Amino acid sequence: MRLILLGPPGSGKGTQAQRLVHKHGIVQLSTGEMLRAAVAAGTPVGLQAKEIMANGGLVPDEVVVGIIADRIEEPDAKKGFILDGFPRTVPQAEALDELLRKRHLKLDAVVELRVNESALLARVEKRAEETRARGEEVRLDDTPEVLTKRLAQYRSMTEPLIHYYSERRKLLTVDGMMTIEHVTRDINRILAAIGAVESKADEPAKKPAKSASKATKTAKKTTKKPAKKATKSAKTAAKPARKAAKGAAKAVAKAKGTNKGAKKAAKKAAKKAASTRKGAKAAKKATKKLTKKRAKR
Ligand code: AMP
Repeated sequence: MRLILLGPPGSGKGTQAQRLVHKHGIVQLSTGEMLRAAVAAGTPVGLQAKEIMANGGLVPDEVVVGIIADRIEEPDAKKGFILDGFPRTVPQAEALDELLRKRHLKLDAVVELRVNESALLARVEKRAEETRARGEEVRLDDTPEVLTKRLAQYRSMTEPLIHYYSERRKLLTVDGMMTIEHVTRDINRILAAIGAVESKADEPAKKPAKSASKATKTAKKTTKKPAKKATKSAKTAAKPARKAAKGAAKAVAKAKGTNKGAKKAAKKAAKKAASTRKGAKAAKKATKKLTKKRAKR
C-alpha cells in the first residue's frame, strides 16, 4: 500500500502514520523527521534546511524530492509506505507522480485529515509539553509564532494539493477532530473500502452493512474507481443481513406452534433483516409465508 497523509501541522499525520505502520507493517516516510535528522547530523542538507525549518518555511522542492527518491528505493519501502509531510507543494506532487510512474508503482490514496485551525495551536502546545515531559528536546518550530507561519505556508503551498489529488480521484477526507482511535478507525475503514488493505479488525460485526455503506459514501465523494471496490465491500458486509433473513424464515418454520409467538419471532427477525435491502426483501418473503400459513389454518 502506498499512501499520503495530508493535513496542516498538528493535524495528527505523524500519530496516524505510526498507527498505520503498526497495523499494516509498512514504513512511514516523514520528510520532517528526515530533515531533523539531517540537521542533527550536520549534513549538507541539514545545514541548508536548518534555518528554513526554524522559521517555518519550506525546504526547496528539489531537496525533499531527492530525499524521497532515495528513500523509496530502500528495501523496507518495497512493501509500501506512508508519506507524512510529503508532498507539500504541487511541484513535489508532480515529481512524486513521475517517481512512481518510472518505477511502475501506484499510489493507493491520499488521506486528508481535516481539522479546525483553531484547535491546532492547542495541539502543538500539547505536543511540546509531552516532549518536554519525556525529557526530549522540543522542536524549534513548535511555537505559536512559527506555527502561524507554518499554517500560512500550508494554506498557500500545500492546500492546493487537495484539488490536485481530488482531480486525480485519489483524495479521501477524514474528520481529524475526533479522537485518535476514531480517526484511525475511519482511515482503516476507508482503506478497506477502497481495497487498499484487507478489511478485518476494527469493524464491529454487528453493523457492518451500515458502516460499509458509510465508507462507500465517503469514497464516492472523492473517488470513482475505489467507490466500485467500496460497493463490493459493502456487499460483503451485507452478509449478516442475509443471515438475519434466514432467521426470519426459520421463525416462520417454527410458527407451527403458537400463532402469537410465531408472529412475534418473524416480526423480530424481519425487523433485524430490514436494515439492508436484501435483508428486507427476504424478511418480507418470510412474513408473507407466515401470513399464508395462517390463512390456511
Ligand atoms: P513536519 O515535521 O512535517 O512538520 O516538517 C517540519 C519542517 O520540515 C517543515 O516546517 C518544513 O520546514 C520542513 N519540511 C518537511 N517536509 C517538507 C517538504 N515536503 N517540503 C518542504 N519542507 C519540508
